[in-house]
Amino acid sequence: MNQVVQIPTDPADAAGKVNLLDFDRQGLRDFFTQIGEKPYRAEQVMKWIYHHLESDFAKMTDVGKALRAKLDATCYVGPPKTLFDKAAADGTHKWLLGMDGGNAIEAVYIPEPTRGTLCVSSQVGCGLNCQFCSTATQGFNRNLSTAEVIGQMWVAAKYLGNITHQNRRITNVVMMGMGEPLLNFDNVVKAMSLMRDDLGFGLASKRVTLSTAGLVPMIDKLSEAIDVSLAVSLHAANDELRTELVPLNKRYPIAELTEACLRWIARKPRTSITFEYTLMKGVNDQPEHARQLIRFMRKLPTCKVNLIPFNPFPGTRFERSDADTIRAFQTQLLNAGILTMLRRTRGDDIDAACGQLKGQVLDRTRRQAEFLKRLDQGAVHAG
Ligand code: SAH
Repeated sequence: MNQVVQIPTDPADAAGKVNLLDFDRQGLRDFFTQIGEKPYRAEQVMKWIYHHLESDFAKMTDVGKALRAKLDATCYVGPPKTLFDKAAADGTHKWLLGMDGGNAIEAVYIPEPTRGTLCVSSQVGCGLNCQFCSTATQGFNRNLSTAEVIGQMWVAAKYLGNITHQNRRITNVVMMGMGEPLLNFDNVVKAMSLMRDDLGFGLASKRVTLSTAGLVPMIDKLSEAIDVSLAVSLHAANDELRTELVPLNKRYPIAELTEACLRWIARKPRTSITFEYTLMKGVNDQPEHARQLIRFMRKLPTCKVNLIPFNPFPGTRFERSDADTIRAFQTQLLNAGILTMLRRTRGDDIDAACGQLKGQVLDRTRRQAEFLKRLDQGAVHAG
């Protein structure tokens, strides 16, 4: 099966060449067949790209000279360009990566004693308009290509000196950066298959997590397409409040979301789903909200909750819950026997925390303009 070749992401560099980061293993094999080469050659090249992080065909020494010259003339390995990168005091690292047309996206690396997690973006901006998320204020611009999604990992791996199967600096990937990954399904699945592939970054299924605001039909489609872990952004366990916070809930209310999660678990009996719950002062952090969440979790007994203290950004009307309230909320859930983790806030001195990613260099969307106008008029409070 041949795959449609995407337009190179950086025309200045690529001059009509094909970006090899746009292919998963099967796609690359098909492409090699298309250019008259044996498919196993594709796998040799893949190892160079993902294990050795090599973008220069001339250095792929076990690939024949003629093929190297042919690749050089027609292809390139094109990760996104780093506009700047920044380290936080706690070791968190953020990359602002340039896309075409003045857009940019962000990727964030979060080192912990036993693992290193890379948070990857799936879209430039986001159209879901979750009220407490900074990315929403810039509106939706476009989907990222496969090369732009896997390229974030390539750039971070190169910077960190990650060596697949030897020196793993990136042990986990979470699709929790900018955008709704299930609305960029094909490219995100291809990129995740490169994260999982032994000839790619070789990560186990439980170490690659896709986070969704709850696109019910796409959750089903994902369970059939690839083996990865699932996180669902819940934030409220009653429909009225959830619709206010996550407008997508109007289309796919909690009952339907619950059914989709049950189907996911039925298909993948050994996996669990993580429900993300961002705690906002006086909004969704009261004992009654915890009780609603407990009732919701009773239907999904093998699942867990990840509490995220709200991360403020300029112009937001929300505030982070007090430390005592957060602790009480967690205790209430734990006492009900629900596995509940509290996510430590990382990298907030460089705006790299959840919901603070907003990589625009140039912003032309209507929602952004409206938001700024409302900000000027004092309709939204400064964070
Ligand atoms: N669209 C996907 C992935 C991106 S958001 C999704 O909705 O899951 C990644 C996580 O960060 C989500 O759980 C999101 O709700 C949360 N988040 C967004 N804004 C936040 C903020 N300001 N503070 C804390 N968490 C936030």
